Amino acid sequence: MKSQQVAKAAQEKCPYCEGKGYFQLLLGGSETCCECRGDGHHQKNS
Ligand SMILES: [Zn+2]
Repeated sequence: MKSQQVAKAAQEKCPYCEGKGYFQLLLGGSETCCECRGDGHHQKNS
């Protein structure tokens, strides 16, 4: 098992796209995550 460095996350990662901001499509290409709107950060309602 490789030890992973834990980066200090200033913001929570979007749980839907795992902080990537998009979904990888099986058929190829990608689709912008509608939850974080491509930002990759979990948006909290303010
Ligand atoms: Zn997202």
